[in-house]
Amino acid sequence: MKQNRRNFLKTSGLLAGAAIAGTTSVNVSAANIITNNSSAKMKLTFKPYTLELKHVFTIATSSRSTTPVMLTEIEYDGIVGYGEASMPPYLGETQDTAAKFLSRVDLGQFKDPFEIEKILEYVDSIETGNAAAKASVDIALHDLVGKLAGQPWYKIWGLDKTTTPNTSFTIGIDTPDVVRQKVKEAAEFKILKVKLGRENDKEMIETIRSVTNTPLCVDVNQGWEDKEMALDMIHWLKEKNVTFVEQPMPKTQLDDMAWLTENSPLPTIADEAMQRIPDVVKAHGIYSGINIKLMKCTGMREAYKMLTLARALDMKVMLGCMTETSCAISAASHLSPAVDWADLDGALLIGNDVFDGTKIVDGKVTLTDRPGIGVVKI
Ligand code: MG
Repeated sequence: MKQNRRNFLKTSGLLAGAAIAGTTSVNVSAANIITNNSSAKMKLTFKPYTLELKHVFTIATSSRSTTPVMLTEIEYDGIVGYGEASMPPYLGETQDTAAKFLSRVDLGQFKDPFEIEKILEYVDSIETGNAAAKASVDIALHDLVGKLAGQPWYKIWGLDKTTTPNTSFTIGIDTPDVVRQKVKEAAEFKILKVKLGRENDKEMIETIRSVTNTPLCVDVNQGWEDKEMALDMIHWLKEKNVTFVEQPMPKTQLDDMAWLTENSPLPTIADEAMQRIPDVVKAHGIYSGINIKLMKCTGMREAYKMLTLARALDMKVMLGCMTETSCAISAASHLSPAVDWADLDGALLIGNDVFDGTKIVDGKVTLTDRPGIGVVKI
């Protein structure tokens, strides 16, 4: 019986896609298929895990060597969807807050996993904040529904997996010798990301340029407070083959940031200023584009909506990540064919991944054909 239903959904790809897109008449049909043929219930489980970083990771405000995550599973009718919450300390969530939040999530009240919108509205309404914990439910639910439909999410979204972008690879702030070594190790990547916003910004760029001409993007993490200085730096960076500048100024300096974007020869991208849908509207006219991260926007559903909204506003879109396993990276990667730039190196920075999924092959984001988010446990 289970197999019959799955095969039916698989051969009815159009039906499944339309149901997910919210077509009412078809949605009812899909719901009937599941609710009539099964009394199965969704069951959410979760467990904490600690990612070990290969290198100590330094940004303008902090350094660390581990990242706490929460791994989630939603089981339904013998099928398991995988999810993950990654919680770097500066974002305010912890394994304790995630466990507390997830223990309040009751998915047993929903009969049909395909009712993604309704289910995730409920999850979002439980408590404000908790974006990463919410994303861990969102990702597991998307994985489950993709598996039930027998399709990967890039296909359900109508995207072409051959058009995925190259990912940038982050070179952390360090001594010149270590930076040169890291750049040599990153020879496979077609674009490198450099963290700026310290005293030695030009030295970092010159050090990298002493060993490679690979295009760069820079992330200032709000580190430049003077707009004239920021503009001078961006002109200098353009001459150094830099492609765009992420969060050059503090997110509170809106007027300065709008002036900088208007005058900048390079696109400016909102990151710290960007969390959820309303922030896209706020960023319009202030930045050239947005950086979407599943852990900040509550997951794949809202990420897709932010992408759509940003495109309607004629803004650039970048897809970013935290240090994460291949679970959350794979989830994000299904949107990557639709973005301008990807920064999905998070799983490459850890030494203890527990999933096999989307890979970086010769610098390019490379999706599998597995259904859902395309991961298996290793
Ligand atoms: Mg950033």
